[in-house]
Amino acid sequence: MLTVNAFAAPSATAPLVKTTIERRDLGPNDVLIAIAYSGICHSDIHTVRGEWGPVQYPLVVGHEIVGTVAEVGSAVSLHQVGDRVGVGCMVNSCRECENCLAGEEQYCLKGNTGTYAAVDLDGTITQGGYSTHVVVVEDFVLKVPESIPFEAAAPLLCAGITTYSPLAHWNAGPGKKVAVVGMGGLGHMAVKIAHAMGAEVTVLSQSLSKQEDGLRLGADSYYATSDPATFDKLANTFDLIINSVSALIDINAYLGLLRLDGTLVSVGAPAEPLPVQVFSLFGNRRSFAGSGIGSIRETQEMLDFCAEHGIAPETELVAADYINEAYERVLASDVRYRFVIDVATLA
Ligand code: NAP
Ligand code: ZN
Ligand code: ZN
Repeated sequence: MLTVNAFAAPSATAPLVKTTIERRDLGPNDVLIAIAYSGICHSDIHTVRGEWGPVQYPLVVGHEIVGTVAEVGSAVSLHQVGDRVGVGCMVNSCRECENCLAGEEQYCLKGNTGTYAAVDLDGTITQGGYSTHVVVVEDFVLKVPESIPFEAAAPLLCAGITTYSPLAHWNAGPGKKVAVVGMGGLGHMAVKIAHAMGAEVTVLSQSLSKQEDGLRLGADSYYATSDPATFDKLANTFDLIINSVSALIDINAYLGLLRLDGTLVSVGAPAEPLPVQVFSLFGNRRSFAGSGIGSIRETQEMLDFCAEHGIAPETELVAADYINEAYERVLASDVRYRFVIDVATLA
């Protein structure tokens, strides 16, 4: 066992605190990663506050991890000591169900093993990336291309893949009109990636306060959803809408913005149900869909796509002892556009 420093939530309501956790001894297929940077995803906040259901405390979250391989197990062939690597939202899956065999292990029928708050193969609860080291089985470890700045790369492991996957699946590209609802961690990556895929991109944000940034990141237009005229003006417009909002919104108003055969994909995961009025779907034969992270294969594809297109997240680097304040700023939509923990400050 390796005892490592970490930042953990002691309960659903108490601030996160510095502590230590144990990492397992390396198995033959395991990789020990010295974590350099760890992103703060809104899912971390939903999870530690128990908004998605009860979890076991103390809990270390964080599933946007980049670091350097420090040690490899005897049978590891994919990674070498010194490699720049990443870990996203899952660290294992059953490998034998229909979805795993189809290479879509994020949809493992037995439930993929989440990077935190999941039951690991040895029965322990997985602990995430707000820590100095993590041990992960080699085929759930990604290669981070050299051209992506390391301190900005971590958010690709969740925000990047979670938006890349539906954009690719629903064929965002030239001739397609894509809207992104909410320009936070996921939303700003959706803008960059959809633009790089060649789609015409519109941001639908609560206000126009981030308009200049949105246009700089690749949006063609930007509207405030607080202005009711936006919904009249954009009715029947989009082929694809990516909803990245962490809170409840009037989803029916957004469905009205889809053109014939358009799809609204919700990647945002509020604690409450999003009530869909079926009549909102009848017009224009609209679809309402969801999408969860992405497979390991697709995550590597996304990392390589971002390297090729010079895409990196917009980040604010913070010390570990700023995590609680960062959470409050995420909740206030005051994030430009992803907090990343400098894990050196945890050492
Ligand atoms: P985030 O950085 O907080 O961004 C969410 C954005 O939603 C905010 O920046 C804000 O954008 C908008 N927003 C927040 N509250 C709102 C409200 N009350 N009404 C309207 N808009 C509001 O969060 P994130 O890390 O991108 O995560 C977004 C959601 O995706 C979370 O629920 C998270 O759990 C979920 N998620 C899902 C997956 C998946 O696999 N499907 C993976 C990762 C995360 P504006 O200021 O531009 O309006
Ligand atoms: Zn996430
Ligand atoms: Zn499976």
